[in-house]
Amino acid sequence: MSYHPHGKHLIAGARIATETTWQSSPATGPAHDFSTGTPALVAQACAAAERAFWTFGYSSRAERAALLHAIADAIEARGVEITDIGTRESGLPAARLEGERGRTTGQLRLFAEHILKGAYLDRRFDAVQPDRQPPRPELRMIQRPIGPVAVFGASNFPLAFSVAGGDTAAALAAGCPVVVKGHSAHPGTGEIVADAIAEALAGQGMDPGVFSLVQGGRRDVGEALVQDPRIRAVGFTGSLGGGRALFDLCARRPDPIPFFGELGSVNPMFCLPAAMAARGAGIARGWAGSLTMGAGQFCTNPGIAVVLEGPGAEAFTQEACAALEAVPPQAMLTDGIADAYRKGRDRLRASPGVREVLTSVCDQRNATPTLYEVSADDWLANPALGEEVFGPLGMVLRCRDADQMLAVARALEGQLTCTLHLDAGDTALARRLMPVLERKAGRLLANGFPTGVEVCDAMVHGGPYPASTNFGATSVGTLSIRRFLRPVCYQNLPEALLPADLLG
Ligand code: NAP
Repeated sequence: MSYHPHGKHLIAGARIATETTWQSSPATGPAHDFSTGTPALVAQACAAAERAFWTFGYSSRAERAALLHAIADAIEARGVEITDIGTRESGLPAARLEGERGRTTGQLRLFAEHILKGAYLDRRFDAVQPDRQPPRPELRMIQRPIGPVAVFGASNFPLAFSVAGGDTAAALAAGCPVVVKGHSAHPGTGEIVADAIAEALAGQGMDPGVFSLVQGGRRDVGEALVQDPRIRAVGFTGSLGGGRALFDLCARRPDPIPFFGELGSVNPMFCLPAAMAARGAGIARGWAGSLTMGAGQFCTNPGIAVVLEGPGAEAFTQEACAALEAVPPQAMLTDGIADAYRKGRDRLRASPGVREVLTSVCDQRNATPTLYEVSADDWLANPALGEEVFGPLGMVLRCRDADQMLAVARALEGQLTCTLHLDAGDTALARRLMPVLERKAGRLLANGFPTGVEVCDAMVHGGPYPASTNFGATSVGTLSIRRFLRPVCYQNLPEALLPADLLG
């Protein structure tokens, strides 16, 4: 079934068009017209969200769990159309879009179950001590929803990190209305998912202002959204440049609000000597596979392999090169991302000490992988070599010895992930690296590859800046709900005035 976008915004349940339009730029098929977002429309959506908070913020957990299930059902009912427009807009294969749809609906249902259990409320109780001097009052604490939340999805996950993705699921589960700024790379996919959310809200008899989607087309749409006085927090997944610009706007507000930005990362892999001696070729092939999955357009793409100098390093590079050479051209998500890949690749190639092992081709929007090699001395001398290039680009970083490997670890910026490839003989070196890597990354892995982020209770998808703008948070997994809650303490309040969740 071919889906033809209606091209309108969804503001509190109503489809609205403005006077001007912009055109989508799909990977295949015809472009479509979309109504241009405006600051006035953002204000309308935020006003509706604030109004809706007075009911939605005080709804029961069972009501919100039912909503999350209803949204998942409504998305599944539109599965064929979502895959149709999603593949055309993003160039991602149908199987990938279908898998991502399952992840998205699974995530919504996981949050439904999570809030029903109630542990996320972190209820605390300090009993009254009338005989203590001074007497202690009764103190109770619980997490409460913060109010309307703004969400910006990423281009590379048009479903799981977009309109009904992890940020939206977590905010709705918490009891926060959501205003999404639609991504210009997949506006049609975004509008169908928004329609599914509106249908679910209507079916549950909830205020339609709980959810709005404002399509973009102009930069001031996102700027107006993060500065709207009714917005209480922002969930953002995207580039370092875009995230930083919006983060700075949040910080400059008269009432600064938290900006939860999940940004870029090079996700280094440390390949330790015993593991390399035993299975270096296998690690190289696995790396090539992880590096080129989805044309390398994953935030957890392992862009750097850190190895020790010697014949093992030589063999590793050759094996990785052979595996990468065999990868056919893949479609990049947007013309802009393809252009940024070309520029990033050329910037690194022009840097002192960088040796090109495999030359990539990147025409209009299709790219093959790039492989570079550099000594740790040159890498340590040039911090720009540690910046993310979004796409299928790998760099082998050759260290003189274990001490230099440690120096590389210490020089890293914040990362979403760091990986160790190790065998029993590597334990001593791994023990030296661990305390350093723990300070750098949100997730540490052994003998695997970081692409593929499990949605579960123990997941941390975040890390020190620039991996994220808030190292205390995760954007994936049930812990991500904490971003949209704040603790409130109730001292000596009569039970009749306490939130139901505190008593139940
Ligand atoms: P992006 O270009 O930063 O776009 C993200 C969103 O922010 C879009 O809605 C975009 O609007 C908006 N935006 C960007 N710059 C803005 C500005 N200066 N002012 C106002 N709005 C602005 O990112 P992307 O291309 O979607 O994603 C690719 C990047 O995301 C990569 O660097 C990747 O590593 C990172 N990423 C991170 C994670 C993670 O979890 N950490 C996951 C996936 C991707 P328009 O639609 O108008 O462009």
